[in-house]
This record gives sequence, C-alpha cells and structure tokens, in this order.
Amino acid sequence: MILTARDLIHRLANDVGAPYREVAKRVNSEMQKGTGLIESVRLIARQSNLDSSKYRLDAGRIAQETRSILVLDYSQTLMISAVLGQMVESKSRDRFPIPAFFAFLELLGEVSKIPTTRNSDAPVQVDENTTRIIELTTTLVSVICEWSKEGIVGVSGDCPKILQELARAVSRRTRMYQQGIWTCLSCGKMVALKDTRALLCLECDQSMYGRTSIVEQPDRERERTGYGQSTKREPV
Ligand SMILES: [Zn+2]
Repeated sequence: MILTARDLIHRLANDVGAPYREVAKRVNSEMQKGTGLIESVRLIARQSNLDSSKYRLDAGRIAQETRSILVLDYSQTLMISAVLGQMVESKSRDRFPIPAFFAFLELLGEVSKIPTTRNSDAPVQVDENTTRIIELTTTLVSVICEWSKEGIVGVSGDCPKILQELARAVSRRTRMYQQGIWTCLSCGKMVALKDTRALLCLECDQSMYGRTSIVEQPDRERERTGYGQSTKREPV
C-alpha cells in the first residue's frame, strides 16, 4: 500500500524506467504550476503511455497511519513534536512546510483524546518515525488541499468527507499564517507572527522556557532535507 508521495514517485520512476530524481523533478515542476500531486504523477504517466489510473493515494489511510504512529509511545510523540517544531521554524529552503505542520497538529489534537497505553517493550525509533510523519503529513496536505501557484486555496475535490474538516482547518490556518497571524501552540491566543518565539506567544515562551528558548540554542538545531533525512550543515 503506497502512502507517501515519495513511494508513489518511486513507483512511477520504476514504471517509466527513469531515475527517481529526474521523475521527482518533473513532478515538482508540475506542482509549482499549481497542479496537484496526483494529477502531476498521472500526467507524467500518461506522457509515458502508462495507465495513469493506477497511481493513487488513499488520504484516509495516510491520516490513519499518522495517528497510529502518534499513539505508539507518548514520549516519542513529544520528541517528534519538538523536532517538527524546530524544523518548521528553520530558515532553510528545506524546512518542514507550514501546511503539513498544521495537519500534524490537527491529527495530534485528535489522538490526544485517545488514551495512550504506554508500552515500554515497544522499540522506539524516533528518527525513523519522525521521517515517516514528515512524509505522511506532507503527502496528506498535497492530496486533501486544493493548490494553486500561490499555495493552498481550499479543500481538494479528492478529499474524502471524513477529512474535509481537517483540510479546512489546514487551509484556514495556512491563510492566517500568510497574513502574519499565528495561534500560540500553548494558550491558543492569536498573535502577530513576529511576536512569537518557538511557536509560542511571548508570554508562554517566557513562562515555559525563560531565557533558554530552543530558538536561542542554534547548536541543537538539526538540518534536515525535504523528506526528513538528517544532514550535516554544508557551507554555502
Ligand atoms: Zn501563549
């Protein structure tokens, strides 16, 4: 079962008989014109005389897989949240995209209502699961939201009913973000983006971290590439 954009593009590259990077680049350039992920993949499939209908992504299953990772282990979920929070603030080109982060927060909000049974025997693979969450959430917003050149413009016609509320929330929060408004992750207050620190309003940041906010410790920051692999910072 293919659940991520990366796996879908791998399959297409295999079928086309071209290197992954080359096909991924073609998909990206289609998407930059405002074409959706699946339409872009299908367009390239058709250009290669392949049956485009077999390239599919099931948004419901993507969301379910994301939730199932988030309920695995409470402390792991906290660590994943912290890494994603840093990545969304990163100034690099490969930062974690804001809409995917909002989808993550919405799904996290849903699972917190489910009692999490801590299983101390479960192997905890924070890095692998963080990468997986990044791929799943970036893929999910590509499928459930309607995109244009300017970014998200609403809910996609392909979005299943059960995820429409999520897609609307992602779309709304992304638009607010583009207008410079942020909702504090701790108290929920709406503040100007410039008056935030580590995704919190200044008051919450002060009371939680004092002067040792994570953004003030660049040494701890990790550089990640688009699909979540950690890399060393390279001199530009
Ligand atoms: Zn706050």
